[in-house]
Amino acid sequence: MEADPVLFLFRRDLRLCDNPGFRAACRTGAVVPLFVWEGASDQGSDTAPPQWSMGEAQQWWLHHSLQSLSDSLEDVGLRLTLRSGCVADQIRTIAEDVGASQVFWSHRYDPPGSRADEKLSRELRESGIETRAYGGTLLHDPDGLTTQAGTPYSVFTPFYRRFKDVVDVGPDIGIPESIEVPDAWPRSVDLEELGLLPERNWAKRFPETGTPGASGALARLDEFLEDAIYGYQDERDLMGSDGTSRLSPHLAMGEISPRQVWNAVIREAESSQKGKKQVEPYLRQIVWREFAYHVLANNPSTDHKPLREKYAAFPWADDDAHLRAWQRGRTGYPIVDAAMRQLWATGWMHNRARMIVASFLTKHLRLHWLHGARWFWDTLVDADLANNSLGWQWSAGSGADAQPYFRMFNPMTQGKKFDGDGSYVRRWVPELADLPDRYIHEPWEADNDVLASAGVSLGDTYPAPIVDHAEAREAALAAYAVVKEADG
Ligand SMILES: Cc1cc2nc3c(=O)[nH]c(=O)nc-3n(C[C@H](O)[C@H](O)[C@H](O)COP(=O)(O)OP(=O)(O)OC[C@H]3O[C@@H](n4cnc5c(N)ncnc54)[C@H](O)[C@@H]3O)c2cc1C
Repeated sequence: MEADPVLFLFRRDLRLCDNPGFRAACRTGAVVPLFVWEGASDQGSDTAPPQWSMGEAQQWWLHHSLQSLSDSLEDVGLRLTLRSGCVADQIRTIAEDVGASQVFWSHRYDPPGSRADEKLSRELRESGIETRAYGGTLLHDPDGLTTQAGTPYSVFTPFYRRFKDVVDVGPDIGIPESIEVPDAWPRSVDLEELGLLPERNWAKRFPETGTPGASGALARLDEFLEDAIYGYQDERDLMGSDGTSRLSPHLAMGEISPRQVWNAVIREAESSQKGKKQVEPYLRQIVWREFAYHVLANNPSTDHKPLREKYAAFPWADDDAHLRAWQRGRTGYPIVDAAMRQLWATGWMHNRARMIVASFLTKHLRLHWLHGARWFWDTLVDADLANNSLGWQWSAGSGADAQPYFRMFNPMTQGKKFDGDGSYVRRWVPELADLPDRYIHEPWEADNDVLASAGVSLGDTYPAPIVDHAEAREAALAAYAVVKEADG
């Protein structure tokens, strides 16, 4: 007797390879692949808990990724059903149409996602539909690692040591060997009807960041392994060079699994006989992603509340003009402005640059880190709740293993160290391109002749600094005293 068809609900796992839930669905019966767009809700503008529905830049990525997924499914004889609206309702309707009583999906580990899945499972069970959740999004279960005292980790290095000792990544799994096709396909809406593409002409340079979809992810991984992996340790902080893997948007959308990345890196190290030590700096970053999920899963409010509670008393400033200048890359600090413009133009920003702009927002401007987290959420094509929350809380000083608040990045020093020839600033702040190297990170130090011959007029062609570095530093340290006092 033929088994009933089963539904597979795709979310942030848009791939067929190394997708344990999809494979399990294929082994159970004929598969009806499904994606339901729930729409974007208002992220709010103050520090109230945000909803974190997908930001606009990432919706662009999702649109193209769904197209790619649909093509891959067609290659194996399946058809992607697209719907919008309430997920439970759509699943119930489709299950009834095709005669399915089971829906499979990949486990979501971020707290809003896992809460939503618990509710969804309950609702579907009440309608007689069984749900089955599988791993594949992470290399480990975020609840699975604890310190010797049995508590979750809050410092990366011991977490990393333990991870290396106990986590067995295992081989990745390919596309399911045999795929059964249902007798009839449910009705699907057109991809365009989901309305994922921005109305304004915002995304035209997003393709510079990467090619959405599983094949784009694999091609990017190959390119990185061929050109950059062995230089990663030396190049990864240089903002003007292409020294990192740029796999983040692919990982965020699950077009490639961390296990595929991990195993490919190890294979490369073995086949080149360079050894695992040479690729360890890169693998360590993949474990930072695991750590971010570990921290968020074990401290579920840290997407909007400080992990270190004393930071709740921090006297944040309130200044819309400063926030706007930061968002638009018009602070008058070249390295900050270059980074913010890179983000706006391409939907991606270099990690070193993320740390610099986050420090600038929370320390030089003393604006709440949630303003930054929200802006990133809406403008990054790689937005990931765990990584974003960890990154922002680290920068603000309030998070796990964080940079202390009193340690502020000096934007000029950071620029000189990690963009020594100014190529990053010249690329993203073209109005400064003709300044000599020694002034590119501090144009206010140049005399009028130098500025004039580079065509720069501060406060006119390029903003004068919106805050004075030394004064901002004093003000930040004074504000930090409140947190120190709360410490007792
Ligand atoms: C304020 C701030 C916000 C951030 N927001 C996000 C976000 O929304 N989404 C996101 O994926 N990353 C975020 N990061 C982490 C990091 O900046 C990006 O993962 C990295 O820049 C992506 O580029 P890449 O793929 O070339 O990284 P690579 O250097 O090639 O690293 C490979 C992978 O390792 C993981 N990784 C690397 N660094 C980190 C890190 N510090 N924390 C967690 N995982 C890491 C990522 O999955 C990355 O794709 C944030 C960092 C900061 C400081």
